[in-house]
Amino acid sequence: MYKKANLTGRFAPSPSGVMHLGNLSSYLLAWLDARSKDGKIILRIEDLDPDRCSKGYVKQLADDLRFLGLDWDNKLSDEYYQSSRTALYEDVFERLLKRDMLYPCYCSRSQRLAASAPHPGECTHDTGCRCRHLSLSERLELEKQGKRPAWKIHVPEKVIIFTDGHYGVINQNLADDGDFIIRRSDGVYAYQLAASFDDMDMGVDRVVRGRDLLSSTARQIWLISQLGGTPPEYCHAPLLLSKDGRKLSKRDGDLNILSLRQNHSSEEILGYLAAQLGLGDGTPVCAQKLLQTFDWSLVPNDDIIIK
Ligand code: GLU
Repeated sequence: MYKKANLTGRFAPSPSGVMHLGNLSSYLLAWLDARSKDGKIILRIEDLDPDRCSKGYVKQLADDLRFLGLDWDNKLSDEYYQSSRTALYEDVFERLLKRDMLYPCYCSRSQRLAASAPHPGECTHDTGCRCRHLSLSERLELEKQGKRPAWKIHVPEKVIIFTDGHYGVINQNLADDGDFIIRRSDGVYAYQLAASFDDMDMGVDRVVRGRDLLSSTARQIWLISQLGGTPPEYCHAPLLLSKDGRKLSKRDGDLNILSLRQNHSSEEILGYLAAQLGLGDGTPVCAQKLLQTFDWSLVPNDDIIIK
C-alpha cells in the first residue's frame, strides 16, 4: 500500500450550520486517507463570511468529530481560523496587486457567494463582466457614484492538467470559468484565495473533499503556483444525494448529525456511512476499525443516493 511519511491532510469545515451526512462523509474519507498513510490532519475553520458563520457551530462540529473518533492534530488556536488570518491574505493580495494580476470589479452578482466554497449550480462568475476593460476615468466615475469594487484576478487561457486521487486525469481550462473574485467589496477575502493560500501555508499536501469542489481545483493549483508554492494532491469524493437526487445541504436542513446523535451511537453512524461509501456492510464500527480495511478503490465514482 502507498505510504508517505509526514503527509498532511485537512478538515476545512465552514461553520455555517450543523454538519450533515454529506459533510461527514468527506471528513471520514479525509481522515481515513490521512491516517491510513500515517499522516497528520489539520482542522482549519473556514469562517470568512461573517454573515454565515458562527463560533457556536465550531464548538458543535469539533464535538461531533470527536464523538465519531475523527481526531486531528492541531490546537484550535486563532491561526486555524480564517477570520483571524486577514493580515496574511492582505499580504498575498498586495503581492498579486503589485504584479498587476488584479483589477477592480463593480458587478455585484457573484460577490455574495465569493467567501464560501461554491456549491453546485451556483454561478461563481459574472457572465458579461467587462470591468477588466474599464478605463481609469470609468472607474473613477463608478467610485464617485459610491460603488466599492470587489477585486478579481485575471486568469490566462491555460489548461491545467492534474491527476485526481480518485477521478484520475483531469483537464480544466482556467479561462472557461473566467476571472474570479479574490476580495469582496466589503473587504472579506474570497474562499479561493484563502483556501489556496492556507493549504500552501499550512503545508497541506493532500486535500480530500467532495466532488462539488473539483471545479475549483484548477484555480487553486494555478493560484498556489503563482504564489510560488507546490500544490497539494487532490482527491475528490462522490457526493451523497437525497432520495430525490439533490446534494445534501445545511441550508435545506438535511439529515444532520444532531438528529443522528439523538438516536444512534457513534459506531452505528459510522457503520451506516461506511456502507453508503462501499466501505462496510452496515455493521456498527469504530473509525479505527474502518482504517484496517480502507481502500479508495471500494469507493464509487458516481454520486451516492443515500439509502
Ligand atoms: N469550507 C468548505 C466547505 O465546508 C470546504 C472547502 C475545501 O475543502 O476546500 O464546503
